[in-house]
Amino acid sequence: MNKSYDIIIAGGGVIGSAVAYFLSQDNELSIALIDKKRVGNATRASAGGLWPIGESVGLGCGVIFFKTLSRTIAEAGGGNAPPILRPHTMPEFFFDFCLKSNAMFPGLAQEMKEKYGLDFFLEKTGLKFIMYDDNDLIYARQIADSIPRFKHHLQWLDVNELREDEPHVSRESIGALQFLHDDQLNPFMLSECYREASRQNGVDLYLETTVLDVTGSGTRVTGVTLENQTLDCSLLINAGGSWASEISCMAYGEPLPIKPVKGQIVLSETMPKILNSCLSTSDCYMAQKDNGEILIGSTTEETGFDASVTINELRGLAEGAVKCVPLLKDVNIKRTWAGIRPGTPDEIPILGPVSGVDGYMNACGHFRTGILTSAITGEILSALVHGTNPPVDLAPFLLSRFS
Ligand SMILES: Cc1cc2nc3c(=O)[nH]c(=O)nc-3n(C[C@H](O)[C@H](O)[C@H](O)COP(=O)(O)OP(=O)(O)OC[C@H]3O[C@@H](n4cnc5c(N)ncnc54)[C@H](O)[C@@H]3O)c2cc1C
Repeated sequence: MNKSYDIIIAGGGVIGSAVAYFLSQDNELSIALIDKKRVGNATRASAGGLWPIGESVGLGCGVIFFKTLSRTIAEAGGGNAPPILRPHTMPEFFFDFCLKSNAMFPGLAQEMKEKYGLDFFLEKTGLKFIMYDDNDLIYARQIADSIPRFKHHLQWLDVNELREDEPHVSRESIGALQFLHDDQLNPFMLSECYREASRQNGVDLYLETTVLDVTGSGTRVTGVTLENQTLDCSLLINAGGSWASEISCMAYGEPLPIKPVKGQIVLSETMPKILNSCLSTSDCYMAQKDNGEILIGSTTEETGFDASVTINELRGLAEGAVKCVPLLKDVNIKRTWAGIRPGTPDEIPILGPVSGVDGYMNACGHFRTGILTSAITGEILSALVHGTNPPVDLAPFLLSRFS
């Protein structure tokens, strides 16, 4: 007889692990989490920014902003007309989705410490968009004007206030727009916390284990095939990140609209505390972690399943960081890496059931915000399993929005 579970989660990055954690709080469910770390998996590559407003206006990644600028220059006819900078603003429901998830982290941090003895190093740092010139100022004003409902998350800093707050930021800067509640944590530890807490709650972990196939009967998914055994389940949750399409094809023969988007990161040697908050510029972002390392990210590259690090892109990030914080020019680089974000056409995750397929749900496509939105994703999937109302309207997250 095959071993049988109520729920099998395929993919154990931050999303699969968060879903396992939230579901495991119900002691009645038997749950298996299956993961094989594939090269470029996103969670281990992440910066750990909890940037609900920054990400929702396209600032979480300086290079996305830069590309928008380049495209706008090209559209304007090659450079004579001044570029019109536009924030890459997401729909309002996405702000709510991100903000609700962000608000869960202080409680989650406390729960992990008190109940499980675990820590993901949540830091209330805020995020500052550093401005160098009038173009940056116009851009920042457009951000503020485009989100009147969220203005209480913003604070303008003039040049003197910025110098007082961030004495190591370049004298070329003219001020900053601060995102007051955009914080950070350690992404590796967040994923470990979800997973270890799930294990303590009774979830069976199948690590270094690949889901090779999905079993089914008619329109119903009934389990998964691993190398040496088949497991049965009542519900399969697809948390395969950038590889989620492989799992949907195994389950019901159709790919998901998920494309791999590479991001590269440069990590500095451990430094004394020189940044009081996370910083974003039109070139890059910087986040000094609790142990003193400064993480400099990130590129946005559509190069397929490619996790290589390349000199040109790393140089761009490093130059952007030195321009913003000049003393970084003499600092050692400790490591560089790349990871693959699971991108969707509208940059919004794909969550919940698929019509015509029983015993199957999606929890994938989290693109740039999977660390931030892992908590609410866990809560949503848990509500769907228990038949209660999810904390947000599910319609814009369903796969059916693409059809
Ligand atoms: C450079 C970079 C910086 C980022 N910075 C941030 C940030 O600051 N804040 C933020 O919120 N987000 C950030 N992100 C995005 C975030 O990392 C992702 O959205 C998130 O990690 C996605 O998690 P996931 O679990 O869906 O995917 P993954 O972490 O890729 O996990 C999927 C897992 O499934 C496994 N898998 C796939 N197929 C199978 C199979 N058949 N059998 C078993 N296992 C399988 C994979 O190997 C992997 O382990 C960043 C991403 C990158 C690349």
